[in-house]
Amino acid sequence: MAAGVKPADRGRGRGVQSGVSRIPPRRCAVIGAGVLGASVAARLAAAGAQVTLLEQDQPGRATSRWSLAWLNSNDKFPRPYHDLNHAGMRAWAELAPDLDGAAWYRPVGHLELAATAGQAEELTARVRRLTEWDYPAQLIAPEAAAALEPALRMPARPAAAAWFPGEGYLLTGPLIERLVARAIGHGATVLTGDQGRVTAIAGGQVRTAAGATVEADEIVCCAGRWTPRLAELAGAAPGSVPLVPWDTAGAAAPGFVVRAGPVTAPGLTRLMHTPDLALRPHPGGLLHLEAPDAAVDLHTSQAELQNWAAELLRRAQRTVLGLEDARVVRYQVCVRPMPADGQSIVGRLPGADHLCVAVTHSGVTLAAHLSRLIAAELTAGAPPAELAPYRPGAARAA
Ligand SMILES: Cc1cc2nc3c(=O)[nH]c(=O)nc-3n(C[C@H](O)[C@H](O)[C@H](O)COP(=O)(O)OP(=O)(O)OC[C@H]3O[C@@H](n4cnc5c(N)ncnc54)[C@H](O)[C@@H]3O)c2cc1C
Repeated sequence: MAAGVKPADRGRGRGVQSGVSRIPPRRCAVIGAGVLGASVAARLAAAGAQVTLLEQDQPGRATSRWSLAWLNSNDKFPRPYHDLNHAGMRAWAELAPDLDGAAWYRPVGHLELAATAGQAEELTARVRRLTEWDYPAQLIAPEAAAALEPALRMPARPAAAAWFPGEGYLLTGPLIERLVARAIGHGATVLTGDQGRVTAIAGGQVRTAAGATVEADEIVCCAGRWTPRLAELAGAAPGSVPLVPWDTAGAAAPGFVVRAGPVTAPGLTRLMHTPDLALRPHPGGLLHLEAPDAAVDLHTSQAELQNWAAELLRRAQRTVLGLEDARVVRYQVCVRPMPADGQSIVGRLPGADHLCVAVTHSGVTLAAHLSRLIAAELTAGAPPAELAPYRPGAARAA
């Protein structure tokens, strides 16, 4: 749609049919087309809302592009947050058959190895707790781990191994393409680049850098780490959306991702964690690698990043077969949109006109379910009890 054309005009006539009065569709502006915004736009449009999805770049190019995208509720507290994530995993399984899941849904299970007695004790306690919480988890023998993952270079004496058969990962690129296409198929308008870059929010209007104005009954902000900035644009007090700092030196929210390849047979098939590495297959014959101790931020020098990238590749070569000819293809510092309590902030923002925010870590695991809850609330006026703990300003359980 050309900039400056008000989306309100598009839906004219849709609210009245054959002389029978109907409630006109809700006009919803969704800001941000990462995994969360694309999911929300698709759900709202499918529920009959008149949706405009605004993205300052192209869809899926920010945090969602670099995510490990591990579908899990493996170590989430407290119990309601665990249950929310578990529901998130089920929601992707439900959506996959209906949205070309073969292109993006990888329910391959997750294998975890512990190296020391202390790590084995923690893993054993976690498996016990998850089993009590009806979450698929089991301790397995080293031979069973080797059988599950033929590419694994089994350490001489792993202290423990665990298998989480209900977990897996998503390919966010093809997924977001399909979510955006689904939204468009249900009548949504997608504005990108300067046409989609939101610069002002006031009185139920969203204005963009290209000068367009989008009228909306509801504005849903899914702008990831930029959410606090947009909330303030809409009139919310500073600090209303408390995120872990991400742009200062030493900030904890940034993560480091390496993509390495080529992988030769037998390639890794599962998502795996060892104490010093997370890895999974990635399209193009690559592996996606992360390390818990890679302390980088947006100010780390290129030389240091290259050292870390080489170190992650060495760790991967020690962990799995098939990387003998591999090199680092890409490395990236990326930023987790991380609410200060490590959970989620979802709901209408006091002081911000028409604005509902949705920002969360574990956004890949949660997007299919959170988007369903948000769409139900905004189109059917049914605030889900499940979201009560995550409302802006709500006191969080630890
Ligand atoms: C290294 C790493 C590993 C992770 N691992 C996992 C994992 O294993 N499992 C899991 O569930 N989660 C994981 N996460 C977290 C998960 O990736 C994020 O929670 C999720 O991608 C956030 O999606 P989003 O759509 O909220 O944000 P984003 O993908 O960042 O999208 C926000 C969008 O908003 C747009 N935007 C911002 N400002 C404006 C504006 N003014 N106007 C218009 N558009 C705007 C941006 O351009 C961007 O496209 C990981 C994150 C990182 C960094």
